[in-house]
Amino acid sequence: MPAKKAKKAAARESAAAKPAGSAPAKKIEVGILGATGMVGQHFAALLAEHPWFRVTWLAASERSAGKKYGDLPWRLGYHLPADTAKLTVNELKPGDGPRVFFSGLDSSVAGSAEAEFAAAGHIVVSNARNHRMDPLVPLLIPEVNPDHLGLVPLQKKVKGWKGAIVTDPNCSTIVMTLALAALREFEPKRVIVTTLQALSGAGYPGVASLDATANVIPHIENEEEKLETEPKKILGKFKNDAIEMHPVAISATTTRVPVVHGHTESISVEFVKGVTHEDILEAFRKFTGEPESLGLPTAPKRPIIYLDQPNRPQPRLDAEREGGMAVFVGRLRSCPILGHKFVAMGHNVIRGAAGAAILNAELMAAKKLLS
Ligand code: NAP
Repeated sequence: MPAKKAKKAAARESAAAKPAGSAPAKKIEVGILGATGMVGQHFAALLAEHPWFRVTWLAASERSAGKKYGDLPWRLGYHLPADTAKLTVNELKPGDGPRVFFSGLDSSVAGSAEAEFAAAGHIVVSNARNHRMDPLVPLLIPEVNPDHLGLVPLQKKVKGWKGAIVTDPNCSTIVMTLALAALREFEPKRVIVTTLQALSGAGYPGVASLDATANVIPHIENEEEKLETEPKKILGKFKNDAIEMHPVAISATTTRVPVVHGHTESISVEFVKGVTHEDILEAFRKFTGEPESLGLPTAPKRPIIYLDQPNRPQPRLDAEREGGMAVFVGRLRSCPILGHKFVAMGHNVIRGAAGAAILNAELMAAKKLLS
């Protein structure tokens, strides 16, 4: 090939290899609602060095409002970011503050507060359960259903909001749905899932130590309903401005175990299509999505990592790997009832909450939906 042609071809190749998602021209100012909680502190820690976002505003309950963030108890092993520590915590009132908010609000207040912030022109990227199943609100996992962001303009129009709400799923839902999304081509029909959920999933102070220590609690309020319904919306098709629910039927049992971070899930699946273990392994290994192709800052290299060792994944060994953003899968074997079963595990506060919302906001920034 002549040198000129080769140079052009190389330039074309290098342009194709570059992530299509463009970083914002300058950092986007963001606020955190519920900044003092388990999820809120993870937001503060994960956003400290973020290349696209800068935390400039915090809010929590009247117990914390008026105090310097750095004077309130910090409960994470990560450093309290110095710039965020200097901010004063605001009351939960919309109006001032930046355009974009991450929400780690308790569900007792998130419903009305997030709607008020959206009505006042803010874009709320939320972890709370309150708006997840609203037909006009995207319930987003960027690798699975990025097209559901198409609901945002309709949401604004129908609700008359200048802002918008985008939610991420329940922490156990994210782990299982990422695994099921990798297997979507085989058409999951019926699923039985049992979870072993970490204590940090209950927020702070969470479960009483006398209940949690050396024990298993076989009930988490409202959790099974979320795991049985949210994946149907996420895996559903966005058609004619609405989400058509996926037909998969899910039966869930959720338990709390004495683990700090990392929800483990034992999942059995029946597929419509005939499928071998090799097909499933290949699907897990090749699974990727828009965050990875766009090169979003919080995207893991691979959203699903299959571990061959028979005693993995384990929350203590695997939850923090890949920045807490990958879901680890292992123990694929035959299920005499549904056909196939495996174990999945992910960090509930990072991939299951704060990191998930940050990835949602990065995708929205890349699609120019935050301005
Ligand atoms: P948390 O530790 O209990 O924190 C709750 C936050 O909400 C705190 O900042 C608290 O402020 C604030 N808050 C409570 N009542 C308020 C009020 N009346 N007005 C204003 N702010 C109020 O809970 P979390 O575990 O971080 O969970 C936060 C949200 O994320 C919940 O909706 C939860 O369901 C969801 N979520 C959690 C996880 C997880 O793994 N932990 C995973 C997925 C989703 P104060 O400190 O001032 O009281």
